[in-house]
Amino acid sequence: MTRLRVSAQIVPRSPVPIVADIHFHVEDGPRRARGGRAGLRLNPGNLRKPEEIRLVASEARDRGVPIRIGVNAGSLHPKIYEQFGGATPEALVESARVELAYFEEVGFSDVKISVKASSVATMIAAYRLASQTFDHPLHLGVTEAGPLPGGLLKGTAGIATLLAEGIGDTLRYSLTADPVEEANAGRQLLEVLGLRERKGLDLIACPSCGRAEVDVIKVANEAQIALSALDVPIQVAVMGCVVNGPGGGPPRRPRHRGGQEAWPSLHPGPDRARRRRGRDGRGARGRSQEDRGRRHRGPPRGP
Ligand code: SF4
Repeated sequence: MTRLRVSAQIVPRSPVPIVADIHFHVEDGPRRARGGRAGLRLNPGNLRKPEEIRLVASEARDRGVPIRIGVNAGSLHPKIYEQFGGATPEALVESARVELAYFEEVGFSDVKISVKASSVATMIAAYRLASQTFDHPLHLGVTEAGPLPGGLLKGTAGIATLLAEGIGDTLRYSLTADPVEEANAGRQLLEVLGLRERKGLDLIACPSCGRAEVDVIKVANEAQIALSALDVPIQVAVMGCVVNGPGGGPPRRPRHRGGQEAWPSLHPGPDRARRRRGRDGRGARGRSQEDRGRRHRGPPRGP
């Protein structure tokens, strides 16, 4: 079965929008634009004939199908590579600019742009330049970042840096792993940056630390396994000692703290905390809320 036929089978059955990449086979472009795809991606490095690019853009314009101009440092147009002396940030942006000009010739502007590189430094510089050059949405990614955990670090370093600067509209982690890992990484990054509402577990836990009075690694791993499937926004703290002790977290955060004096079990939340404080508002060890506040405004805590 040809690629197009396979794709035609997938599109109507897919629960998520399908975006079709077009590499080399430009004759597929118009047919893909007509086939119900939610979007197309063109790689300027391997679709090089202006008349073919205009043809795909015209068809997409008539069908209302958006296109991503997906520049990749590994497949940069040879002329541009030579002109800039390599896959520099300026070369990546120039490639997108040239491609965009063909689209504009046929009055097509429903475009987003990516300028990916496997080098995090190159990718960050390219996107910064792209954000100053184009008004179009930018799709972020560190391409071919590799397997976990290094690929995750590279992707996060590049994408998070740009998102923190307000650059980027969509993203993709490019990991040598199950695609589910890519989607999870993207979701979690948006959650930790506060760009998306958290849906599941946020586990706060001590590092290996000389003060820890419990095996925080073991407890934290157990908590992760037990709670990660929860489909509710929950924040759990696993603390190794009383340095960042009782009262050190938000009142609705369940926590497990090591140490003889501290709360030795998973704390279920504010109701039990109220019972623990008693009617006069004093804690189990007779300290008032004010005393506890003083304690935590004291000397700097551990790492
Ligand atoms: S609370 Fe601070 S000092 Fe205590 S175990 Fe955790 S990191 Fe170490």
